[in-house]
Amino acid sequence: MKNLTIIGGGPAALMLAAQIDTRQYKVTLYDQKKAVGRKFLVAGEGGLNLTFKSPLNELISKYSPDEFMAPFLRVFTNDDLINWLSNLGVGTFIGSSNRVFPQPELKPIEVLNRIIEHIKSKHIKFVLKTKWTGWNTNGQLCFEGLEPIESDVVVFALGGSSWKVTGSDGKWNELFKKQGITVQPFRAANCAFKVNWNKEFITAHEGKPLKNIAVSFNNYSAKGELVISKLGLEGNAIYALSESIQNQFITQKSVTIQLDLKPTMTTEQIQTTYKKAKLSKATEILKKDLNLDRTAISILKHFTDKDLFFNPDLLAKTIKAVPVILHSAEELDKAISTLGGINLNEVNENLQASKIPNTYIIGEMLNWYAPTGGYLLQGCFSMGFAIAKHLNERRRV
Ligand SMILES: Cc1cc2nc3c(=O)[nH]c(=O)nc-3n(C[C@H](O)[C@H](O)[C@H](O)COP(=O)(O)OP(=O)(O)OC[C@H]3O[C@@H](n4cnc5c(N)ncnc54)[C@H](O)[C@@H]3O)c2cc1C
Repeated sequence: MKNLTIIGGGPAALMLAAQIDTRQYKVTLYDQKKAVGRKFLVAGEGGLNLTFKSPLNELISKYSPDEFMAPFLRVFTNDDLINWLSNLGVGTFIGSSNRVFPQPELKPIEVLNRIIEHIKSKHIKFVLKTKWTGWNTNGQLCFEGLEPIESDVVVFALGGSSWKVTGSDGKWNELFKKQGITVQPFRAANCAFKVNWNKEFITAHEGKPLKNIAVSFNNYSAKGELVISKLGLEGNAIYALSESIQNQFITQKSVTIQLDLKPTMTTEQIQTTYKKAKLSKATEILKKDLNLDRTAISILKHFTDKDLFFNPDLLAKTIKAVPVILHSAEELDKAISTLGGINLNEVNENLQASKIPNTYIIGEMLNWYAPTGGYLLQGCFSMGFAIAKHLNERRRV
């Protein structure tokens, strides 16, 4: 029997452990925290969005690069994840926006515990509170407080570099760089962006949502919700564009996004409604005839000139594209996920590292991106599944 060492205990690693054939591999899983799946639990704090219910091709199109992620998502789809969880006794439901969550009576810790129980029933050994610190000159794996070990197969699943408190500290990047592996710098993704609000605006609107809006930037557009925060703007509509906004920040100090406050209406429809309005004050028309709330109207005023309110045609156009200036991304540690990590050309189609023998890399450690909506967990679970399938089949040939 061969030894398989899994380092890291997030969703990618747990799915691998759950799927690996323990008649072929003696498996040990190491994690530096005293329990596995800490980030999975943090993810559950705002509603554990496990995956997204959509046709597979649509699901795949949300990932970047989609052609890299497609084979893993095809081998373990959103429906496969839902069925697998159901077999573990984790029922799910599809929310109004097609996001998939555990049944309300199931707390995230219970979901995690059912996955762990299943893994433990396969006699996989967990070694916790044990930090991997690199390789020694003989290529053996080194852990704090343990003698170096050798393993026939090693899978790294060390996560990205946000929410360090969960163990995903990204410190592994230097250890991989020393092996000649290219690691892209970490940047916040699915994160808030800084806006220079004036004092009056933020005092009145901090914490207020902007519902049913759309955000556009370059060729990207996302419908959803935003929340006004002291820092700036957060929420799924801006998270969805975070990769392209961040790419623009590489060369620019500020980035202007367009906010559509009325995505359900065309500019022409807004103009017609405005012209037919019985009221005469612009703010009243925006409120009563166009159903814009106080926050939406204030944001329109914040980023435009007063004269705009005397020019109905231009006002209608601006409602569809309020120019909002962003000054930076939120700090890395507060991000939901991270851009950067191991360059994708450092692994082959089976996620095997080309420069370190018998070594694989899975999950958020690799430099791929997906928006919130369950896509991140789905991507990690799919990679864990795919690698287990590969290793199980590799041993049989
Ligand atoms: C606030 C928040 C909300 C989120 N909500 C969602 C959501 O609703 N839906 C969704 O799809 N995704 C969500 N995510 C993202 C999702 O949780 C992550 O993408 C996912 O956990 C990444 O899984 P992973 O297996 O790659 O690594 P991780 O979950 O990051 O796990 C990595 C593990 O490696 C261990 N480790 C790291 N370095 C070492 C070392 N040197 N030695 C030993 N162990 C080490 C860590 O302790 C950790 O346990 C959210 C994330 C956050 C922060």
